[in-house]
Parts: sequence; C-alpha cells; structure tokens
Amino acid sequence: MQDTNISQNNFEQCLKCSLCTTVCPMMAANPHYPGPKQAGPDGERYRLKDPGFYDLTLKYCLNCKRCEVACPSGVRVGDIIQASRLKYGRLSRPLRDITLASTDFVGSLAVPFAPIVNGALSLPIVKIAMDAILKVDRHRTFPSYSRRKFTDIFEKDLPSQEGYKRYVSYFHGCYVNYNYPQLGVDFVTLMNACGYGVRLLDREKCCGVALISNGLGKQASENAAVNMASMRKALDGGSEAVLTSSSTCTFTMRDEYDHLLGIPNEDIRPHLMLAVKFIYDRIESGQISLAFKEMPGRLAYHTPCHMQKLGWTVYSTELLKMIPGLDLQILPQECCGISGTFGFKKENYPYSQKIGAKLFEAIRDSGAAAVITDCETCKWQIEMSSGYRVYNPITVLLNALDLEKTKMLNAE
Ligand code: SF4
Ligand code: SF4
Repeated sequence: MQDTNISQNNFEQCLKCSLCTTVCPMMAANPHYPGPKQAGPDGERYRLKDPGFYDLTLKYCLNCKRCEVACPSGVRVGDIIQASRLKYGRLSRPLRDITLASTDFVGSLAVPFAPIVNGALSLPIVKIAMDAILKVDRHRTFPSYSRRKFTDIFEKDLPSQEGYKRYVSYFHGCYVNYNYPQLGVDFVTLMNACGYGVRLLDREKCCGVALISNGLGKQASENAAVNMASMRKALDGGSEAVLTSSSTCTFTMRDEYDHLLGIPNEDIRPHLMLAVKFIYDRIESGQISLAFKEMPGRLAYHTPCHMQKLGWTVYSTELLKMIPGLDLQILPQECCGISGTFGFKKENYPYSQKIGAKLFEAIRDSGAAAVITDCETCKWQIEMSSGYRVYNPITVLLNALDLEKTKMLNAE
C-alpha cells in the first residue's frame, strides 16, 4: 500500500464553506463525530504536523462520500478520512473486525455448513453470546449463506457459455458467491438474452471495501492487485467489459484502488462497470434490444450512497422505467446507515438505525410492494429494519423480460 500522497487527496482545495457538513449523515446522528470538514481537510493539516492529532472519532465515518458529492471544490473529503484511518489508525485490529472484513475466508468456511451456520446465527443465545464476546450487536440479522457457491453453480448448472460472438466477464463479488447466487444466475440469464456470453475471471478476490473500512489496508491492496491483474487478462482475452452487480464493489474497484491503495487501475476503469450501465449504453447505441412484458405494480428505488457518488443511478432507474405498467417511485436520497460492516458493530448499531430511520419511513410511505437497489448491504439494512423485500435491478429487469423475444432480437 502506498503512503498516501496528501496532495493527491487535495485538502488544500478546501474553501471552508462547510457545505459538506450539511449532508453528512453521521454528523447529524452522532454528536461525537466532528464532521467531514474537521475530520477531513482541517484535521489533515494538523495530522501532517503531528500524527498525534489523529482523532479516534474518525472511526465513525461511513465512507458514504456524500461530503464529496456536495463539495463545490472537489475535495476528496471521504478519501482523506479513509487514508488517515489506514495511515494513523490502530495497528492491531480486534478479532471481530478481522472476521467481519474477511468475507472470502468466512464465506468459504460457511457455505459447506450453510444450514448449520444459518440456524446458529439466528439463535437468540448465539446472538447474545456474539454481542457479549465479539461485540456484534444482537439485533443485527446476518445474511444467510447459500448451500452452494455461485462459481460451482456457474460451472455445473448453467448453460454453456461457448458459441457467443460477444463476451463479457463477470465480477460476482462475495455476496453473490457465498450468500445469494441467484443474482449471479439472473445476471448470466439476462446477458445471454442480450446476446452476450459470460466468463468468470481467472481469479477473483473480495473487492476489499470491508478490509479498507476496518483498517486492513495491506490485505485490501493484495486483493486489489489480484483483481486488476485478472481483469486485465480478461479484457486482453476478448471480453468487451468486466461487469458487476454491486454498486459498492464497483465503486471501490474503480475509485479507491488507485489513490487510496496505490494499485493502478486507469486502464481497467473505462471497462469496469455495473451491468445496468453496460446494458443502458448498448441500448442507446442500438447494440442491445429488450422486449418487456407488462408488469403492473409499484416498486420503490433506493439510491445507495456509492451509486450517488458514481453518478450512475440514472442507468438503473431509466432501465426500470422501460418496464410497461411499473409504477417506479424514486425514494429520497437518504443513507440507509449500515455502511457495510459498520452497522454490525455493537457501538455503531444505534447510529446505524438512527441514520436509516428517514429512509425506512419513506419506504413505508411510498406504498410500494418492494424496494429495488444496487447495493447488497443496503438490502440487508432495509430488509431487516423496514420489513420490505429488496431486489437488485437485474432481477427485476429479468422478471419483466419477454425472454424468448429478447433473445430473438439480439440473435446475430
Ligand atoms: S464520508 Fe459520509 S460519514 Fe464520512 S464525513 Fe463524508 S459524509 Fe460524513
Ligand atoms: S464542502 Fe469542500 S470546500 Fe467546503 S468545507 Fe467541505 S471540503 Fe471544504
């Protein structure tokens, strides 16, 4: 990992307008958090003079990047805070943080014993023990593990991906691989209907978002290096793009690998994107056509913070608006409060719920039957705290498709 270059994180550009402080969800919920201006550009001036000025309350930053979206001067406020945490934060991490951040390792262990693990994690006595010993809040519901990994299903159960003229590669991420392979299956089915074969990367590691937020920069950099090398190979091998189904993985790999972890990605960035962006762009250029069935009903779309930072919400919502009969409600852009592993921790859980309260209320007021979002951790938080089911746009689009007609439209 590089020793983060301070000028690269441009704190000198701060105009001291305080606009960022008006949008920070943590500042509004937690009186102990100094807010983006003080934790970011202001604090960096002091930390540069003396690392002793590092403030432990920086651990409360959600890395939501709302401050960066609001900043009129382009200051990378969230990056400055994350870089400081990696640089000055405690060197030894508690077992809880390492466990929560090790999604690949824990997922690989849990999948073969999924029924037992899922049953145990839902037992009140186990939740109380985890709360007392590991400091994982007892109120948190864990996403259940799948009995089979997506990679296994892809190899053994899905139709052959040979014989397509056009290919994309898929970065499935930990959630699809260990918890919800159906989303990966939906992705492959959708891309096949669009006339594209799907390949998996030679090697894929967790994108590293949880490692970064838990201060495990070295491991995050190692994962980033593996992912970038695999994607380079896939693109050199003829894949048109590397597609994803998680806004947070996508944001991390596109926008945090280079200047936060020091892993170059400029050659990959233009070809690494969410599937919704790829499909939308190719509909616009006449390379993909979708045929939909009528899908009457109301669904509500939630914009994940990292989707807002990417500026890509429009791709999901414009595709969903193509579905005839669907009454799509766009929810106000409120943070759900979970921020990956943050909301699992006992000391953070109350803030996590307080931050998400406005969003949960908006969902209840929307009159929607279910929610759509591009981020799996937003899904966990919304399902647990509002009781509504949450779907990825890929699944909704696939369910609304006239599959045979779409295949015919995209046949070469
Ligand atoms: S990244 Fe989010 S939580 Fe952190 S300072 Fe910025 S707005 Fe606040
Ligand atoms: S919004 Fe940007 S320019 Fe204004 S105080 Fe915050 S970091 Fe500085």
